[in-house]
Amino acid sequence: MSSPSGQSFLGFSRSQSTGPVQRCVNPATSVELAGDFFQATEADVLKAATLAAAAAPSLSALSGKLKAQFLRDIATRIEAATPTLVARATQETGLPEARCQGEIGRTIGQLRLFADLVDKGDWIDARIETANPERKPLPKPDHRSMLRPLGPVAVFCASNFPFAYSVAGGDTASAFAAGCPVIVMAHHAHCGTAEIMGGLIVDAVRACNLPEGTFSLLIGQGRVVGQQLAKHPALRAIGFTGSRLGGRALMDTAAARPSPIPVYAEMSSVNPVVLLQGALAARGEGLATGMLGSCTLGVGQFCTQPGLLILERSAEAEAFVARLSTLFAEAAEGVMLTSGIHHAYVNGLVARAAQKNVRVLAQAKSSGDANRATPTLFATEAAVFLANDSLQEEIFGPSSLVVWCAHREERDRVVTALHGSLTATIHGTDEDLNKNKELVVQLEAIAGRLVINGFPTGVEVSHAIVHGGPYPSLSDGRSTSVGSNAIYRFTRLVCYQNFPDAQLPAELQNANPLGLSRLVNGNRSDAAL
Ligand code: NAP
Repeated sequence: MSSPSGQSFLGFSRSQSTGPVQRCVNPATSVELAGDFFQATEADVLKAATLAAAAAPSLSALSGKLKAQFLRDIATRIEAATPTLVARATQETGLPEARCQGEIGRTIGQLRLFADLVDKGDWIDARIETANPERKPLPKPDHRSMLRPLGPVAVFCASNFPFAYSVAGGDTASAFAAGCPVIVMAHHAHCGTAEIMGGLIVDAVRACNLPEGTFSLLIGQGRVVGQQLAKHPALRAIGFTGSRLGGRALMDTAAARPSPIPVYAEMSSVNPVVLLQGALAARGEGLATGMLGSCTLGVGQFCTQPGLLILERSAEAEAFVARLSTLFAEAAEGVMLTSGIHHAYVNGLVARAAQKNVRVLAQAKSSGDANRATPTLFATEAAVFLANDSLQEEIFGPSSLVVWCAHREERDRVVTALHGSLTATIHGTDEDLNKNKELVVQLEAIAGRLVINGFPTGVEVSHAIVHGGPYPSLSDGRSTSVGSNAIYRFTRLVCYQNFPDAQLPAELQNANPLGLSRLVNGNRSDAAL
């Protein structure tokens, strides 16, 4: 594997920055990896944004077929470069090879999902209301509407998904699919992986004869370079995955711009799980094993990690928590993605343990080696939880909090007080579910995906998935950052009034040359007018 150049991609050229310089570190060994990475300059940010603005009109005019070809080209290049990508990413993240392979598969799958979506074309939601010049008292105009791309999008890479939510990840794929140029802000933890992936996308841009500003990749501190980017007037939207602090800072920057722009930030989620009596009685042991697996999967560094377990007190519930405590105590420690994330995890545990009336139920053994996280289980009473908002904060890592409720009314109070989450889970028998129908309604109000008798980790990328929820899980709970519906974040509706047929986009022309399913005068149709 050749050494990275460490310079940002500014369209087809590379930055000539001389610094500041940073290096990536293998979190498993704390050893610095080869390759200096040079922070993009303010002039680099300006160049990337100017190129993106210049590319936006051509990209917005691109047919679905050409966008699909571009997305498939990127996917094919990633497939071919998988060994190189895995070799660098495993070193930069400490993630096992199999996980990196799997995540690359997901990334390729996402690109192809969006390619198929735009190839078919129906997603643009074409609507036609034909004119009625005879209508009284006023004639009805001809109105035709469809979704159009927003323009240049900034994408901030996620630390915990070096592929699926980084340079060529879901935000980038959905923005390209919508017809938007993308400027990616690399995550400082995996700059080398980002550089390899950036090179593949630039090659695809050239191969598909797309404009130079279709894609740029900036290296450097998000707090410096990312902020400069977020303020640039050419930018039209931001996609982000990371901490609540980082997401919030970008939301505030975007809102304070002379021309504010939307920020789609996926930030923090505690993913409550409600365990009902019948399920605990029927399969408490298996539930404890499954719960430990979900809490500690990927060293707990998943946005869907179950951080809150809500139970009514009973002998079965006590037995389940006792078993789960044993499993937590026996669990293995794991390498976290960065020393910063490890530091935040340790601080989170210390702060939680110091909370009044919160007990540490179990903590796994620690080797004391750098960046290792020890699975930790806490417990508290519903009244304490309800009186202390900090207990709703995400501890990013393999930790969970048991909330004991004295009775159903208390459980209802806990559930209705929950902040927004990506997921909410119920474990219950049919009888439990029939007796607790209000739970689904309560959980719908706070989460984007409801899981019954399963575990929230493991997010399927599909047309029906929802990976979003009310704040703080997402900055805008109306959207999803996973699955084909993610494309709508980077679009807006445009209506064409009384246009001559030849001047309309093909999607809205009378002959329906693309054969789309359209809403014509209120009825779905794929026929010509
Ligand atoms: P982060 O600190 O939010 O950083 C993510 C990206 O945003 C980095 O590129 C970072 O750049 C940038 N950034 C941070 N603050 C910014 C600001 N004020 N303005 C502009 N850009 C900013 O997240 P992280 O490094 O991935 O992990 C830290 C913590 O985030 C974790 O401990 C965890 O709590 C949380 N997290 C949550 C999820 C989730 O899905 N729920 C996923 C990942 C992380 P620089 O750091 O280079 O400045």
